[in-house]
Amino acid sequence: MDTHRESTASSPGDLDVRAALQRVAPEVVREVDRLLAGRTRHIRLSGELARLFRARSWPQTSKIIRAWMLWVIVLDIVTLAVNAVLLPPDIVKAMLEPASILPPAALASTIAFLRPRPLWFESIAVHVGVFLILLSVALVGVNSGGEYYERHLTIMLFVAVTAIIIFPIPIEWSISIAVLAIGLYLVFQLQNQDIAPGNAIAGALFFASGIAATVVARRTANILAHKTFLLELRDRARLAELTDANARLELLARTDPLTGIANRRWMVETLKRVWGDGIGKTEGAAILMCDIDHFKQLNDSLGHAEGDRCLVKVAGIIQSSLRDDRDQVARYGGEEFLVLLPDADEQDAKLVAERIRSRVETAALPNPRSSVGAYVTVSIGLAVLKRGTEAVSFEALQRQADEALYIAKGKGRNQALFYVPPAKSG
Ligand code: GH3
Ligand code: MG
Ligand code: MG
Repeated sequence: MDTHRESTASSPGDLDVRAALQRVAPEVVREVDRLLAGRTRHIRLSGELARLFRARSWPQTSKIIRAWMLWVIVLDIVTLAVNAVLLPPDIVKAMLEPASILPPAALASTIAFLRPRPLWFESIAVHVGVFLILLSVALVGVNSGGEYYERHLTIMLFVAVTAIIIFPIPIEWSISIAVLAIGLYLVFQLQNQDIAPGNAIAGALFFASGIAATVVARRTANILAHKTFLLELRDRARLAELTDANARLELLARTDPLTGIANRRWMVETLKRVWGDGIGKTEGAAILMCDIDHFKQLNDSLGHAEGDRCLVKVAGIIQSSLRDDRDQVARYGGEEFLVLLPDADEQDAKLVAERIRSRVETAALPNPRSSVGAYVTVSIGLAVLKRGTEAVSFEALQRQADEALYIAKGKGRNQALFYVPPAKSG
């Protein structure tokens, strides 16, 4: 639930981080690997990594700080209300003034953390806010005197400890909070009429050792948060690499290496898919089988390398002769190309086939031993599935195109012929 809220309540900075995390820059990945290869306690984030971490953890950090600030406001008001009922009025009066410092200070810090701001600003918001809160709690005791004096200084230390433990802020800030708390405790205890200065110092040292332990715990928590962040970055980088590699592999698997157009496997998959999507049922389509005439002779007379160059050029001509992105071509066999024209009628199919045939002819690619002429030509077999007619499988339509191609070859090549169904006898 929290995650969902975090992902929807995106600030501009948040979006920036999401984008950056998705395509982790190579130098950042190298730094991530370097840090993860070392010891956990030596992990220090700097530069871009520090910026990314800060932006990544900001929503959570700010939420914790705001919640804490509101908690101390509630605590302040509730304690004051209870005291107002239980304590003599003059003591309550003495408490009222210092206690009233706290709510505005905490509220101001809460507002400061409503949206991301520069680091220096946030640092001031935390330091000033926490200092005023601690001062307020301490002064409540100092003003009331007697047993309340020391009790409130202890409460003040308790408040500081909770902030140190739960604020996921830079460790330097946590240390400042610790120093502020112990400093306030010492200053006020030294002014405490009821205890000797030696006792005040001893008390401060005692509490300081406890607070130091919480600072160390905070430091460990920070480092672990940094490590978790680095692991997340590494995972993302690896995932991105894998996705890229997969995409490259997939492209290779469906591309004909010589001509760069789609291969047979891809075309068969495409045919299956588009037929399933409805072409074979209602939309209609045309299939063109294009075959280079006397290609064997070309190989024999000019060499296999020249044959390869011819295949590349013919593939390019076919591709550039198609209608739009919906039309598809694949190298279907050695010198055979299958063209799929979705949603095409006989007129469209004839137009495209004729365009391919004439463009190949006018490209004047040499084929000296061809019986058709001195240049490369293609024969094309066309089969059309008319829109709205009874569905046939793509295999059946392709067989029809093959048959038409066979007839075009027989009729002298360099021509595009439609499949003609056998006349029904009887
Ligand atoms: P037709 O006009 O009847 O189609 O005659 P053809 O010579 O084109 O047909 P045939 O099937 O007899 O020969 C096809 C030739 O295509 C045979 C084969 O060596 C050649 N071929 C197949 N793949 C490649 C290739 O990748 N590169 C080259 N250079 N030649 C290829
Ligand atoms: Mg051929
Ligand atoms: Mg052939």
